[in-house]
Amino acid sequence: MKPEPRCQICVTCGVQFAPTDRVPAACPVCEDERQYVRWSGQEWITLDELRRDHQNEVRDDLGLSGIGTKPSFAIGQRALLVRSPGGNVLWDCITLIDEATVTAVQALGGLRAIAISHPHYYSSMVEWSRAFDAPVYLHAADRRWVMRPDERIESWDGESKALWDGMTLIRVGGHFAGGTVLHCPSGAGGRGALLCGDIVQVAQDRRWVSFMYSYPNYVPLSAAEVDRVVAVLEPYDYDRIYGAWWDRNVAVDAKQAVRRSAERYKGHLQVG
Ligand SMILES: [Zn+2]
Ligand SMILES: [Zn+2]
Repeated sequence: MKPEPRCQICVTCGVQFAPTDRVPAACPVCEDERQYVRWSGQEWITLDELRRDHQNEVRDDLGLSGIGTKPSFAIGQRALLVRSPGGNVLWDCITLIDEATVTAVQALGGLRAIAISHPHYYSSMVEWSRAFDAPVYLHAADRRWVMRPDERIESWDGESKALWDGMTLIRVGGHFAGGTVLHCPSGAGGRGALLCGDIVQVAQDRRWVSFMYSYPNYVPLSAAEVDRVVAVLEPYDYDRIYGAWWDRNVAVDAKQAVRRSAERYKGHLQVG
């Protein structure tokens, strides 16, 4: 008897694939030079299997509700829920979704849309989209990295996409061609916030940021590309950056942190 097609999830990056009879031959996201295949080799899991021994926690992360998985799974990120009068946005995404999570997010007002910075956070976005009947906004330049196509995925092109309540998706590029950040003017008590994933990476000291093509494989961006990233962000007012993981945020003075971090970075790139 033919096996029921199932959606396989790459254990290293947490991206869920379209239903297949057999496990996929490889994970293109992890085989790309910006990621890596775990040293023990390619492994797959299904959402049902993941639910057996993992749970999500919903807790405050510097004024926003974060949603992350315990014990840590894949790259260990947390999604952020931006609550807004016109409807909530889920910023970035995680692989695990279960009944308890849906109930908790519904209690916070549900989701009007999901927006994702780049393919390392695509996770099980289609499951989230279906659970909340919410579209997923992805930049079209990264379309080839969508492993589970779905009619709820809305590709957007160009350099920015206006949402509601003044929120804007900004295509920054750099780490990925379609690398996106979310600008929330009401964030940080009205001083403005950028939600970045690792498109602008908050450094360990949480006062500086960095800009790389590959973080796990230590491949930098060029000075010209860093200048371009800073120039793209320059028109926006923000005092805070929410980074890629729990509590990895620049709490204040983030715009200056981006400017001075770019100068420091370029200083280290100079030859001679
Ligand atoms: Zn992978
Ligand atoms: Zn990444």
